[in-house]
Amino acid sequence: MGRKFFVGGNWKCNGTTEEVKKIVSTLNAAQVPSSDVVEVVVSPPFVFLPVVKSELRADFHVAAQNCWVKKGGAFTGEVSAEMLANLGVPWVILGHSERRALLNESNEFVGDKVAYALSQGLKVIACVGETLEQREAGSTMDVVAAQTKAIAERVSNWANVVLAYEPVWAIGTGKVATPAQAQEVHDGLRKWLQANTSAEVAASTRIIYGGSVNGANCKELAGQPDVDGFLVGGASLKPEFIDIIKAAE
Ligand code: PEP
Repeated sequence: MGRKFFVGGNWKCNGTTEEVKKIVSTLNAAQVPSSDVVEVVVSPPFVFLPVVKSELRADFHVAAQNCWVKKGGAFTGEVSAEMLANLGVPWVILGHSERRALLNESNEFVGDKVAYALSQGLKVIACVGETLEQREAGSTMDVVAAQTKAIAERVSNWANVVLAYEPVWAIGTGKVATPAQAQEVHDGLRKWLQANTSAEVAASTRIIYGGSVNGANCKELAGQPDVDGFLVGGASLKPEFIDIIKAAE
């Protein structure tokens, strides 16, 4: 099926210039599988994108952590997709659960953002995932399907979309999904894509897992047939991110 393993590092709202330069030099010195085997994308806060982009090795790429939902203009404090494209930032993370929960980003708003970012030539890591309450109520698949549907209704070409399944209860908690739990939802999402987009989109779209991935648990998760990589938060700020990249082997 040729889905290249994808490892994203979400640095969230962390770092000083000195700290991000240190992470970049650790990454630059790392021995990792070639870019034929793994696609590596790190996502610093907006303000550090230029320095990270200019100092990062050429086989790794950068992502923004968000962008505005439409063309820029009178939207104080926002950063537009056009600006990211202008800076040569190839990727953007959209729909992260922290933004859905803390900033009330709805499924429709996230879907609009994904469509607009793609229209401006950006590639998108689109995040979906259920809360603990939703999992315990047995509605995990309904929740992630509704989040994915809001994207699918607005996007016909999925070539530049990576879908990140990030159960909210696993993000930043140290409570990682078991490989079987991750596989079950990834398989469900692929079947949803098959039924609602096309067989080609279902077969080729990378579905990555995020939520307390670390150097110790990444290998077994990566062994699941529908886990095509990771979106990593906390561990992406540490040297163990390199071990997670190596899980692609
Ligand atoms: C994330 O924020 O996308 C994430 C997966 O965080 P963590 O790895 O820290 O759980």
